[in-house]
Amino acid sequence: MSNLILLGPPGAGKGTQAKILEERFGLKQLSTGDMLRAAIAAGTETGLKAKAVMDRGDLVSDDIVIGIVADRLDKPDVAKGAIFDGFPRTTAQAEALDKMLPSKGKKIDSVIEMRVDDEALVKRITGRYTCAKCGQGYHEEFAKPKTPGVCDVCGGTEFTRRADDNEKTVRDRLAVYNKQTAPLVAYYQGKGKLHVVDGMADIAAVTQAVEAVVKGLKG
Ligand code: ADP
Ligand code: AMP
Repeated sequence: MSNLILLGPPGAGKGTQAKILEERFGLKQLSTGDMLRAAIAAGTETGLKAKAVMDRGDLVSDDIVIGIVADRLDKPDVAKGAIFDGFPRTTAQAEALDKMLPSKGKKIDSVIEMRVDDEALVKRITGRYTCAKCGQGYHEEFAKPKTPGVCDVCGGTEFTRRADDNEKTVRDRLAVYNKQTAPLVAYYQGKGKLHVVDGMADIAAVTQAVEAVVKGLKG
């Protein structure tokens, strides 16, 4: 069992790589962003609280997010390991995770920081779209479906874009990342868990670098 954290700014490629790792290693992607968007779509109390905060690119409160993750980790599908994508995002969340994992018989094995320049991030996020049916991610320039307008995975023909994937909000989200999340690099380095990969490379090359870390863990 390995539990990984993919750490990196919005658009770094965390979701893209998490989905590939799910396939190859039987791990489960836990994206707090996806869980919050599902809560909004379902109209739950959490979703109602989170929507305005997410639309402006701020962080949802630590208590809400920590609660969602704690519940999610009790489900059986994370038994082979979890890939945390977009969590933790604050020191308080990292400390809460360190506290809750032992009680669930789990620990973090590795943290993979994906480094990408700010201008590349803006380009990635403003060109990002997703299959409405299966959630497969695409990019207008860097990750097009093989047949234009048809999802490679499920054959769906409808696609969506996130409300917060516009240039203004992306720049605000990057500022939030630099202020609130970037300190986690030093936090995990101090614990001897940090691995850095060059997220500027193409998707396949990033996958190779990430896989090398995961295979090293399996030793
Ligand atoms: P994150 O989950 O970190 O916010 P995504 O995985 O959704 O980022 O990637 C953001 C966008 O960039 C998507 O449209 C994706 O297809 C594209 N992308 C991901 N990795 C790369 C890469 N290495 N090079 C170019 N584009 C990428
Ligand atoms: P993401 O899908 O990771 O890009 O997250 C989208 C938005 O969801 C963020 O801009 C935040 O508003 C919210 N969010 C996701 N994960 C967290 C988290 N761990 N802590 C606080 N807010 C989060």
